[in-house]
Amino acid sequence: MRASSLPSPLLSILEGAARWCLDVLLPPRCPGCGTVVEAQGRMCGRCFGDMAFIVAPLCRACGFPLPHAAAGEPLCGACAREPLPLERVRSAIRYEGVGRRLILRFKHGGRTDGLGLFAEWMVEAGRPLLAESDLIVPVPLHRRRLFVRGFNQSALLARAVAARSGVPAVVDLLRKIRPTLSQQGLSAAARRENVTPAAFAVDRRRASLVVGARVLLIDDVFTTGTTLAACARVLERAGAARVEALTLARVVRDEAHPI
Ligand SMILES: [Zn+2]
Ligand SMILES: [Zn+2]
Repeated sequence: MRASSLPSPLLSILEGAARWCLDVLLPPRCPGCGTVVEAQGRMCGRCFGDMAFIVAPLCRACGFPLPHAAAGEPLCGACAREPLPLERVRSAIRYEGVGRRLILRFKHGGRTDGLGLFAEWMVEAGRPLLAESDLIVPVPLHRRRLFVRGFNQSALLARAVAARSGVPAVVDLLRKIRPTLSQQGLSAAARRENVTPAAFAVDRRRASLVVGARVLLIDDVFTTGTTLAACARVLERAGAARVEALTLARVVRDEAHPI
């Protein structure tokens, strides 16, 4: 008998029993430190207390936190000098401390137990952007890197955000057609030379989806915005009405973002 053909009260009893067995055998653990916690996908109080969420006031364009800004809709110095080709970017957490550890374990250790939490934070931080988006599109990985890592962390985030927000995700809309160096440790100028729009392309089979669409790009970490800017230019050339971005984390350092 297939599970879907069982009467629903029986199904929920079975599901409850399965969850109970799992909790006894594999008690839910905090994705930050491994301590046993009350429910799956929750953090312990200590790790949660150490999380650095990005809160207003923010640059109205790139979302950089501007804690000393006066009321209104401030614009940071970097955006005033050289605006990104994205109307708005928002990020949920600062890329530091527990949050950074969580992301490194997710990205390089393949630990997906924090994915539900990440998506929850991103939906919260990106609520106004999600309300005005037609499509969610992850920043792609080149197939060589995808082969080594086994998954695209941005595609996993995009799917999880789509499931929670109801905005559809098209995870294979953008393709990385040229491998690039890891951006880690490169200066802002070197990043711009490394990742140009020529590194990305819209998948021909998906091209019609972009025309006239308000696209929300998803990435794990926003450092200088070079990758997001390159993707945005490609989407705009393909006919997107507008491109914005939502990332899980943001590097908040003056050298990454001169004020
Ligand atoms: Zn913890
Ligand atoms: Zn800004």
